[in-house]
Amino acid sequence: MTAACLFCRLVEREVPATVVHETERVLAFHDITPRAPRHLLVIPKPHFTTVGEMALADPLLAGEVLAVAHEVAKEQGIDGSGYRLVFNTGADGGQTVFHVHCHVLGGRRMTWPPG
Ligand code: AMP
Ligand code: ZN
Repeated sequence: MTAACLFCRLVEREVPATVVHETERVLAFHDITPRAPRHLLVIPKPHFTTVGEMALADPLLAGEVLAVAHEVAKEQGIDGSGYRLVFNTGADGGQTVFHVHCHVLGGRRMTWPPG
């Protein structure tokens, strides 16, 4: 827990969120500014800044985040139509919240390449 971290505070329920899925070590909730008809965020409860940091320190946890992302896609009814998982990393990656999070985006056709 990092007191200044928004998503750590969300894990502690000090910041409200619409939670859709929770396990012992992972939390999934609606993105506050949805960029697609379905836009969820999946985070590990322990604090890691980036996906790389998490994957190196705890590969099992990184796998759990991916498994929950797939479960959430199923629950949201977008596993059949398809969805996109995104880990924005660092400044050039567009990361604005520095607690690793997996975007689950779906419900419409995603564009490629990204902007
Ligand atoms: P990124 O730009 O990849 O770091 O994504 C951060 C995401 O967190 C953005 O899509 C924001 O809309 C989302 N976000 C910021 N604050 C909250 C919050 N309190 N609850 C849910 N999502 C949030
Ligand atoms: Zn954090």
